Amino acid sequence: LFISLEGGEGVGKSTQTARLAAALQARGLHVAVTREPGGSEGAEAIRGLLMQGEVTRWSPHAEALLFAAARADHVEKRIRPALEAGQWVLCDRYLDSTRAYQGGQGIDDAAILALHAFGSKGLLPDRTLLLTLPQGAGEERALVRDRGVADRFGARGPEFHAEVTAAFERIADAEAGRVRRVDATGTPEAVTARLMDALADLLP
Ligand code: C5P
Repeated sequence: LFISLEGGEGVGKSTQTARLAAALQARGLHVAVTREPGGSEGAEAIRGLLMQGEVTRWSPHAEALLFAAARADHVEKRIRPALEAGQWVLCDRYLDSTRAYQGGQGIDDAAILALHAFGSKGLLPDRTLLLTLPQGAGEERALVRDRGVADRFGARGPEFHAEVTAAFERIADAEAGRVRRVDATGTPEAVTARLMDALADLLP
């Protein structure tokens, strides 16, 4: 099965992706962990280009195309082969991040969905886990951690991140069959247990 983890800055997606993989492995499942942008050799090269945004200043349209190109490579080289081998694929960010972030830069949702359909040949997650925190809490967590990516996106202020969070909420409301909200407050153990609950109906 294909599971994506989504959420705004500092919600703990990367930590929880790793913890969830361990919990699924403990149940005897074969799990492949990956992330976007990146996840395959070609897509990681494109991630490098995207992360130089402060230097290159991609236009929103160019940026949306780079994300779509990265996804096309990632899906073909990494995600589909793992799914075909019977693995569970956990992906740290996927389509909904593109809709929330590039949507927040003014790219129309229908255009993003069309690029996605073309680039991924229509691959959607079986389930999307949306990690949620009270507004502003995640950005604060992300800013105290000195990560390279925080620089590239440092220019995007609190209004942008509030809009990203709102976009994720709209997607969760509109696609309740695929997307489950998971409260990201509390200990890492508690959050992982909630993620497992949100997958309970899919587990063998
Ligand atoms: O997953 P992580 O939080 O490391 O994401 C790296 C950065 O890429 C984030 O700061 C996020 O704002 C940005 N991003 C983006 N558009 C996407 C995916 C990620 O702007 N589609």
